[in-house]
Amino acid sequence: MTTKRHHVVIIGSGFGGLFSAQALKKADVDVTLIARTSHHLFQPLLYQVATGVLSEGEIAPATREILRRQKNAQVLLGLVDDIDLSAQVVKWRFHDEYQETPYDSLIVATGAGQSYFGNDHFAQYAPGMKTIDDALELRARIFNAFEVAEFTEDEEERRKLLTFVVAGAGPTGVEIAGQIRELAAATLRKDFRSFDPASARVILVDGADQVLPPFGPKLGKATKKKLESLGVEVQLNSFVTNVDDSGVEVKRKDGTTDRIECFCKVWAAGVQGSHLGQTLAEQSGVELDKAGRVLVEPDLSLPGNPNVFVIGDLMSYPDVPGMAQGAIQSARHAADIIAARAEGRDVPGAFHYFDKGSMATIAKYSGVAKIGPLRITGFIAWIAWLFLHLLYIAGFKQRVTTLLSWTISFVTNGRSQRVVTNQQLVGRLAIEELGPHSSGRLIRGTVPGAVDGADAERINPLKK
Ligand SMILES: Cc1cc2nc3c(=O)[nH]c(=O)nc-3n(C[C@H](O)[C@H](O)[C@H](O)COP(=O)(O)OP(=O)(O)OC[C@H]3O[C@@H](n4cnc5c(N)ncnc54)[C@H](O)[C@@H]3O)c2cc1C
Repeated sequence: MTTKRHHVVIIGSGFGGLFSAQALKKADVDVTLIARTSHHLFQPLLYQVATGVLSEGEIAPATREILRRQKNAQVLLGLVDDIDLSAQVVKWRFHDEYQETPYDSLIVATGAGQSYFGNDHFAQYAPGMKTIDDALELRARIFNAFEVAEFTEDEEERRKLLTFVVAGAGPTGVEIAGQIRELAAATLRKDFRSFDPASARVILVDGADQVLPPFGPKLGKATKKKLESLGVEVQLNSFVTNVDDSGVEVKRKDGTTDRIECFCKVWAAGVQGSHLGQTLAEQSGVELDKAGRVLVEPDLSLPGNPNVFVIGDLMSYPDVPGMAQGAIQSARHAADIIAARAEGRDVPGAFHYFDKGSMATIAKYSGVAKIGPLRITGFIAWIAWLFLHLLYIAGFKQRVTTLLSWTISFVTNGRSQRVVTNQQLVGRLAIEELGPHSSGRLIRGTVPGAVDGADAERINPLKK
């Protein structure tokens, strides 16, 4: 008679999900990884997809390819709607086909999405930067702004097209602002006849009194200076209070208000824990922090549920930042506990985070890094950033092609990924109009018993 092995379900294929699956490779367990995308996304380089430096494939290899040699792991593509803690079941669906997967141990690594601080309607005018869809939509908006500026005869409209506003001066905001400016001033320099692309305004807006607040005042100051030398206008102590199709409204700390007319906006201002945090909170009574992240026990388990772990960007743990290292280290800790329990070994105790530092690029040949007591700016920080990011991109092929794309882009100022399609531009609106239950048929035709449109709400087994 064969005994069933301990079954670990992991939700999410980001740093947390993937690294916990890999950490369980040699453990006496079976692993099922369920994620709503079939790829493992390297989010730190999304801004390079948005600005045409890299292709989406270079930063998002297929999860099942990464795990193909890991015999104890199965990868399933699906969106988790619900977790039943008392029945130990994960409820998920692939479009309109519903599935239930039982678990012995569960790792929830669904990360965080963009927060518009209660103004979700801003999203259609100012996409965030969390997914490949976001980056491709932004790429379409950025490059199309230059395209329309080439043929419009209305000077006022051209000014709006050539003004780009980035909300949020954290690493993502700084990086995308620097890139749009480099794109305009260097890459596109000779490509247009009706205007000079270098005249494009890039405005970085933040309510804080410095850029890159977590990096401290010295690096914040150096970054601001470098951005300004590139031509980025940095507006600090300024809160975005409204966003519409043709502009952004800003309120300064001194009480004055302003409107910036612009078509292309990028939202890089806040994060909100995945909705599964709320699901866990409702069932276990656990607290969420202000950003909707789950306050976990010292061993990263969900209070009252020692076999359920919340890791990465969805967990709230003292002094652990929402960064790749936080996700990777918490993933390995949760996996170690699960493996030790399954194999009857001593179980590790509390999680201890090791801070390896933070880095950001500002532009070509220029970065900032904070490593322990060290504060580094300029070329050395940039090289360190390149090296580390290359190291953490999953997959040999992806590393080689990324290095090649970077070399082309740094040496020639050229960008090989300037393709923009209508689907990139209109996808968000089309999906909203079609509704969440419309797309399964595109893959398998009409699935017998599948739910459609309004019926979905009625038939959805999760609603029972
Ligand atoms: C633009 C950007 C730049 C960044 N730059 C840096 C940087 O330079 N350095 C650094 O250290 N960190 C950086 N970060 C942060 C870093 O990427 C995150 O901390 C890290 O990705 C968190 O990993 P995670 O696994 O917790 O979440 P994620 O990587 O977000 O993964 C979440 C996973 O869960 C899946 N998922 C979500 N909801 C569901 C659901 N309901 N059902 C099924 N699957 C679901 C998603 O598809 C995804 O696979 C950056 C983040 C962004 C967005």
